[in-house]
Amino acid sequence: MSRKPKKTFQTPKGTFDILPQEQKYWNKVRDVVRDIALHYGFGRIDTPIFENSDLYVTSVGEATDIIEKQMYVFKTKGKDSVALRPEGTASVVRAYIENGMANLPQPVKLYYIGPMFRYEKPQSGRFRQFHQIGFEIFGDMDPVYDAQIINVFVKTCYSLKLKNLNVEINSIGCKECRPSYRSQLLKYYRSRIKGACTNCKKRIKTNPLRLLDCKEEKCQPIKVNAPTLIDSLCKECHDHFKSVLEFLDELEIPYSLNPHLVRGLDYYTKTVFEVFLEDEHSEGGSEKAHRRSKLALGGGGRFDKLIKIVGGKDTPAVGAAIGMERVINLMKKQGVKVANPFKSQIFLVQVGDLGKKKSLKLFDDLSSAGLHVMESFGRNSLSSQLRIADKFGAKMSLIIGQKEAIDGDIILRDMETGAQETVPIEKIVKVIKNHLKK
Ligand code: AMP
Repeated sequence: MSRKPKKTFQTPKGTFDILPQEQKYWNKVRDVVRDIALHYGFGRIDTPIFENSDLYVTSVGEATDIIEKQMYVFKTKGKDSVALRPEGTASVVRAYIENGMANLPQPVKLYYIGPMFRYEKPQSGRFRQFHQIGFEIFGDMDPVYDAQIINVFVKTCYSLKLKNLNVEINSIGCKECRPSYRSQLLKYYRSRIKGACTNCKKRIKTNPLRLLDCKEEKCQPIKVNAPTLIDSLCKECHDHFKSVLEFLDELEIPYSLNPHLVRGLDYYTKTVFEVFLEDEHSEGGSEKAHRRSKLALGGGGRFDKLIKIVGGKDTPAVGAAIGMERVINLMKKQGVKVANPFKSQIFLVQVGDLGKKKSLKLFDDLSSAGLHVMESFGRNSLSSQLRIADKFGAKMSLIIGQKEAIDGDIILRDMETGAQETVPIEKIVKVIKNHLKK
């Protein structure tokens, strides 16, 4: 007796299926990333999808959206508190320390691709399960690596034929210069906080730097005149930032300085950046709507203190994460053409017992010869198989029936004209290849 389901099921809110017809985009992005990683010397790392939740609290920072609102945390049967990873860097840092990568020749360059989980309000370009590509460089504080990370990011986008990108960049200083800037910022905001949004009223107590990140309309006039960190950088941070910009100039990467860019995670020091579509402003709509809807393709920065915070040796590092959904969405918007590897032009039709018997082996022989063939082996009638071939848009059908199986032949049918020719089986690959060239 079959059990009738009580309800129908759907993907959980904020998640989606990646269907076969979409896979070509995902594969293309993965292929490009694999290629670029190889060229720039990044080794692939895969870390677990869940980790001890303390890892994220320690690294991302308690007073951040991720920790306060967005983590999927649960207790295991063994009473451990684990979290689905909300981002990739913390795990890669944990892996760097745990696997003794500090003993390898530095810098160590790693990259990852995989799903991340954040309990966010789902909306266009914002999901609860999404995918990131991350590049991380450990063990070198030279600004050349900040620029290389940005270069690798931009190269990935350009190799995917994306256009009109702009890097927004800032420096959020270090433990030397940030405290005095923080005091200046607090002094400035304290006298104005009454007019700010509820979030900013909270941020002034928990994470003042994130006041600069506020997108609320009423906070913009306050934000615009706030002191900027870039004017308060210590000499080391100033020189570092200057060099990063000089490298970007040299690489001819378009960028603009954004003194309000702070990023939502606590672990950054010095350089922070995000990559946007350059001409979003010109797409119409109000400035307010634009500010709210502006979505970064990705971002990153330097995290020189994080490895020590997570329990390793003092190790400088820099990295970036790219959002795959947003990249793929932009590829579609900008009309990037991606070949569909599943789109075949040949359909194999079998008729009769002997034809069917020979069909699987023939199918294997054709694919070993490099031909991608479609079939509908479950059907037996010639006409229904030809109808399917038509629906798939096949250019030609190969028909093997009783007679052909005995004679060692195959019928080649032009699906457009209906013309048919009988070809000896040993010549079929050559004949098909000639037809495909036409
Ligand atoms: P973040 O480090 O939080 O700035 O994330 C880096 C990139 O990941 C973002 O710029 C987005 O492209 C992508 N991303 C972050 N959160 C989400 C989300 N909830 N849904 C889709 N993409 C996201």
